Amino acid sequence: MENIYNYTLDELGKIVEELGEKKFKANQIYNWLYKKKVKSFDEMTDLKKDFIEVLKNKFVIGSIKIDKKEEDKDVNKYLFKLKDGEYIEAVLMHHDYGESICVSSQIGCNMGCKFCESGRRKKVRNLESGEIVEQILLVEEDVGTRISHVVVMGIGEPFDNYDNIINFIKIINDPKGLEIGIRHITVSTCGLVIKIDSFAKDSGGANLAISLHAPNDKIRSEIMPIDKVYKIKDIMKSIKKYIDESGRRVTFEYVMLDGVNDSHECALELSHLLKGLNCYVNLIPYNETENIGYKRSKIFKIMEFYDILKKNNINVTIRREFGSKISAACGQLRSRKEEA
Ligand code: SAH
Repeated sequence: MENIYNYTLDELGKIVEELGEKKFKANQIYNWLYKKKVKSFDEMTDLKKDFIEVLKNKFVIGSIKIDKKEEDKDVNKYLFKLKDGEYIEAVLMHHDYGESICVSSQIGCNMGCKFCESGRRKKVRNLESGEIVEQILLVEEDVGTRISHVVVMGIGEPFDNYDNIINFIKIINDPKGLEIGIRHITVSTCGLVIKIDSFAKDSGGANLAISLHAPNDKIRSEIMPIDKVYKIKDIMKSIKKYIDESGRRVTFEYVMLDGVNDSHECALELSHLLKGLNCYVNLIPYNETENIGYKRSKIFKIMEFYDILKKNNINVTIRREFGSKISAACGQLRSRKEEA
């Protein structure tokens, strides 16, 4: 049985035709799933009874469920249980501009970033598009409000699950689907360069964020094994091409690790690297976790780093913090569950 949330409207139209029905029935099904948000085929009252039976034999509506929830001011953290007994997480953040959700893209992650909790466990499998869509649907249902912004920055490397991420974007962006504006969708990658090139063509204009975290390969290779495959100059080359072709601004994420990548020299080197590029830098205060030795940079260091970038005309922000009390950072809830 397939999860019906896995399909774009176009794909569902083709399947419906193969099942001997008119293609437009897929619009009706989409309407039930994403506008009326029903959870059973029997509720799809404008479909014929025998077609409903066909659908029931082929599809399930949803396959994940909320296992646990932690709440804090302006942030909810969710642990989901999947059909194979695995766990993933999502975080809902309340901003002035609306509700934003951070979703997971894989179970585990193979990128092995030294500071990251999610990387402590190897990838078990990719998430299906529908399992990513459902993180949004279930959280919306739980809080009773519409989610307007989506970031793919939870557990996993989205570009290591590329096709499903592209389909996920199509499903949630579709006016007949969840209708989340394409400019409100952001995918974050540690820099799988070959996929950066295709993302410009396939994403429909979604935002791209690169987890850079270092201004040179010496530091980057110490904290991010992917640097052994793709060097910073490879990333910069494809990012320049991406910006030229898409006309979009790119975000560079830079997690501030005490004594590792937060010096004056690093800030100057980073300014030099990004000079003249249509981008901005998001400085992320590191969320310390009990299992990993890295420490968060001192706040004055973060401010100094910020000032140097500003002085060098680099657009920069410091990420507002959410949920450090409730282990909202990057795989901590799941780690606790599995190590308990
Ligand atoms: N694999 C993707 C997306 C998931 S991680 C990527 O690398 O971009 C989302 C972001 O959180 C990345 O920038 C990642 O480096 C960062 N991150 C991981 N652990 C963190 C922690 N403990 N504190 C702050 N940021 C962290």
